[in-house]
Amino acid sequence: MNIKSMTMEEIGVLLKEMGQPAFRAKQVYGWLHKGVRSYEEMSNLPQNLRQQLAEKYPILPPEVVRRQESQKDGTIKYLWRLADGNCVETVLMRYHYGNTVCISSEVGCLMGCAFCASTLGGLVRRLEPYEMLDQVMFTQIDSGLPISHIVLMGIGEPLDNFENVMRFLELVNSPEGMNISMRHISLSTCGLVPKIDELAKRKLQITLSVSLHAPNDQVRNTIMPVNKAYPTEELLAACRRYYEQTSRRISFEYAMIDGVNDSVENAKELIQRLKGLPAHFNLIPLNHVEESPLKPSSHNAVARFQKTLESAGITATVRRTLGGDIDASCGQLRRKYTKETSAGGR
Ligand code: SAH
Repeated sequence: MNIKSMTMEEIGVLLKEMGQPAFRAKQVYGWLHKGVRSYEEMSNLPQNLRQQLAEKYPILPPEVVRRQESQKDGTIKYLWRLADGNCVETVLMRYHYGNTVCISSEVGCLMGCAFCASTLGGLVRRLEPYEMLDQVMFTQIDSGLPISHIVLMGIGEPLDNFENVMRFLELVNSPEGMNISMRHISLSTCGLVPKIDELAKRKLQITLSVSLHAPNDQVRNTIMPVNKAYPTEELLAACRRYYEQTSRRISFEYAMIDGVNDSVENAKELIQRLKGLPAHFNLIPLNHVEESPLKPSSHNAVARFQKTLESAGITATVRRTLGGDIDASCGQLRRKYTKETSAGGR
């Protein structure tokens, strides 16, 4: 395991084995979580310890391959190269409540949603805990902007990488590390029901976002293959259990696709099926993906849908689209880069 994926206690154990006093664990952990690129920066450690650590536990920071900044809203998108050469994306968004990073949890994705660029090349591998932490730390360092909020809404399905994501949450939340509050973290899932139950048991204070995108199986089956394994009835039942266990209101994501899921009937069906479950809807006009025939809903259709939900007491916000000029949605930058480089670097 990479040393940055270890808890402070685990680092304490390995330092003890190296004959070091107990107070070193906090020093090493603190430096690692400041985003040092080498042990040489750990100025309060003895030189020989720095060398030993560098040999046994390489730090392996990611490198910036591309950085795009939106001229409109200051959104910054990073494409990172990981130690093994794979690339993932992170987006930094500036909201009034704080700077938010959207991080990736996997290289590629297995889930196959019809509208999503992240899944086009399948799953390459799952990210290690430190590779998620690095996205937060190095975005903060590179941008010079303090990060207060995290959304696990980048490339990958976080609940398909469950243990690593849980460990990442523990690390990023630790007081000796970045100390980011669980209440400032959202995790988004396409709806892996057994893992939602598993997450509920942990009783974390994070926000669970569920990518619903359809009111029923008939529609959802056509855009989300995961629905065949976990149909909407089971998914909504898991959402209710999650709410009962955690008292945290569920946030539903709903990508508005022209003629597919955006009618008033669709909204009314949602209202029926969500009765009694405190929920919030994020309506996201579909971002067009080159390889897909699906189109975004019209402005009017989105407004009508929102009004219908709100008339039944379900809060629904239309997500402001940020970074539209920089391929800032879901796997688009990595996709573009992979296509360019595999076409001979053009
Ligand atoms: N795998 C997780 C995390 C990805 S989060 C999940 O499915 O929730 C990214 C969110 O953006 C998800 O709600 C996803 O369905 C949505 N999304 C993907 N491609 C999109 C597109 N082209 N336009 C709008 N939303 C999209």
